[in-house]
Amino acid sequence: MGTLRDLQYALQEKIEELRQRDALIDELELELDQKDELIQKLQRELDKYHLMLHPACHSQVNLHDTRSHFGEQHRMKRQAISAEPSILNTQDLSLLTITCYPKSSQSKQLIREAILENDFMKNLELSQIHAIVDCMSPTEYHRGSYIIKEGDVGSIVYVIEEGEIEVTKHQERLCTMGPGKVFGELAILYNCTRTATVRALTHTKLWAIDRHCFQTIMMRTGLIKHAEYMEFLKSVPIFQKLQEDVLSKLTDVLEEMYYEEGDYIVRQGASGDTFFIISKGKVSVTQETCSSEDPVLMTTLSRGEWFGEKALQGEDVRMANVVAAEAVTCLVVDRESFKQLLSRVEDISNRVYDSIESKTKFSDEVDFFANLSLDDFRVLTTLGVGGFGRVELVQLRTDEMKSFAMKVMRKKHIINTHQERHVLSEKEIMQLAHCDFIIRLYCTFQDQKYLYMLMEVCLGGELWTILRDRGNFDDSTARFYTACVVEALSYLHCRGIIYRDLKPENILLDHRGYAKLVDFGFAKKIGFGKKTWTFCGTPEYLAPEIILNKGHDMSVDCWSLGILMYEMLTGSPPFSGSDPMKTYNIILRGIDMIEFPKRITRNAANLIKKLCRDSPLERPGSQKHGMRDLHKHKWFEGFNWHGLRKGTLTPPIAPHVSGPLDTRNFDQFPENIVSPHSEEDCEWDADF
Ligand code: ATP
Ligand code: MG
Repeated sequence: MGTLRDLQYALQEKIEELRQRDALIDELELELDQKDELIQKLQRELDKYHLMLHPACHSQVNLHDTRSHFGEQHRMKRQAISAEPSILNTQDLSLLTITCYPKSSQSKQLIREAILENDFMKNLELSQIHAIVDCMSPTEYHRGSYIIKEGDVGSIVYVIEEGEIEVTKHQERLCTMGPGKVFGELAILYNCTRTATVRALTHTKLWAIDRHCFQTIMMRTGLIKHAEYMEFLKSVPIFQKLQEDVLSKLTDVLEEMYYEEGDYIVRQGASGDTFFIISKGKVSVTQETCSSEDPVLMTTLSRGEWFGEKALQGEDVRMANVVAAEAVTCLVVDRESFKQLLSRVEDISNRVYDSIESKTKFSDEVDFFANLSLDDFRVLTTLGVGGFGRVELVQLRTDEMKSFAMKVMRKKHIINTHQERHVLSEKEIMQLAHCDFIIRLYCTFQDQKYLYMLMEVCLGGELWTILRDRGNFDDSTARFYTACVVEALSYLHCRGIIYRDLKPENILLDHRGYAKLVDFGFAKKIGFGKKTWTFCGTPEYLAPEIILNKGHDMSVDCWSLGILMYEMLTGSPPFSGSDPMKTYNIILRGIDMIEFPKRITRNAANLIKKLCRDSPLERPGSQKHGMRDLHKHKWFEGFNWHGLRKGTLTPPIAPHVSGPLDTRNFDQFPENIVSPHSEEDCEWDADF
């Protein structure tokens, strides 16, 4: 039998063995990181050759075809997507009726289970799932007929009730599916090109819902809930002094709790820190007194009434029992969340309203450009190609050393893709923005076919190109560019504007190497304490609340900033799947499921994880002091913000730019070959 000493000895040995294994694992991980780096480096070389051989791949992208940048081995620029909600203002929503289709309880259950099994749809709220089940309409397909064709534009999602279907891509069979399965779900988020063909193998019965109906449900459930919560909160005296937008944020932290008949919600004598509002059912308030053994019924409370309000001010010893007299739903908030919320909501000093001031301040600039017309410019070369057209380098004919970037957008394409409102808001927001970290828009022109935007040119090239060529940035390089973006976003957020399309493709370097935001196609002035519902952005950069159609605000930019940091530090974004739907499902699983490579320092990882919190209010930058809060984070400790603003801080990468016409930092683009079809004139006289 072993003595204690033997056992201790054996234990020591085991510990030593474990230590050695840990060291080996560390070594292997390091080796793996190095190999990953090598692969990435080779991949980048390959990308460069690919781009040289096939430069046209940039111009082939279609706004709704998100396939082009997925599934490809090489690094391609990512196209933004957008679906304007069919319901434009929230008042219209109450006028819309959603048609419900009767169905048996078995069918309802089958649909519900199919939804709960689907990686994307299972994330919806129960009330939304319930509404979707009610609104799905029946449809049938004969054996051999096509339900979805690859390449078509889709707007319907299906659940199989009966029969079998086959999924093929490029004539290759991918899988077959039977009853209780969902398919085509990307189409309910936005217009998308179907990436596979679906055919009925037998006579097939399906349930279907289209995007319009889905979005109405999502918006309506969100807004109804919000309005209802607001009404409840306004009736509670302790909340009456709070401003409307603070109350609005409070509705976001309220949690729903459910109780069965007879459940004790609160017990007399217990200490509590939770406040309750009854949203459904009735409760009995009872009190034990010295004179009687049994608690005496004091009163009953029902919908709209509340209890436990003292708990929000300090620890409360409950004076009575509160018991559910039937099934009860309460909205609850605890002291900690309430206190945090009050300290988090924006302070008014953080807001800026400046449209008139900026107009007069820059009146010289306005006068200079007011006298110019399109003919005053000569086109030299193409700087970039985006979803709506090209951006050309142009020079002033009368002063050839003055160069600009001219964004040229096809009117026809804007109309076909319903982006009119986005383009007008792009112009309005950019023209008013006077910030050293945002590209200046000097003036705009239009003719029969095109809209033109004359901008300050940034000849240092795209951050995307530099990141592609270098693979990734070190901590301090990433910090510099992140800081430039923080400055740009601070400027916008203080003015109630969200940006919504942060990514390296939309960040340009000027000749000094300072970064500036470009492409305000999705920027929108929403004001303070308000939300908006448009599904837009670039898949890998979308915040979960956009994907789940919950309504979103400035805090989506804070999320994207976290993604941008991760991409700059590693070379690829944290959430990325082989197709957009997979990307969305990975995003919905959250940042905690992502393994951070060792190269990301602890402070950077900490900031990224905070920026990518699921709950928008918890993201730094979306709270009381706005983006200024980011300055306080450890990752920025010692960073010279003043020098950045003054332009005295030396940028990490100094681009080579020899003069106002030097485009060496841009990729080459082929001549603008436009098909006769796209040259059609357009009736649209834009307010441009
Ligand atoms: P997207 O598909 O991203 O919406 P878009 O059509 O809106 O694209 P932009 O992103 O505004 O177009 O511009 C496309 C590209 O043109 C940019 O990525 C950049 O390379 C180049 N570019 C745009 N503006 C400028 C500028 N002011 N100076 C230099 N290059 C520019
Ligand atoms: Mg762009």
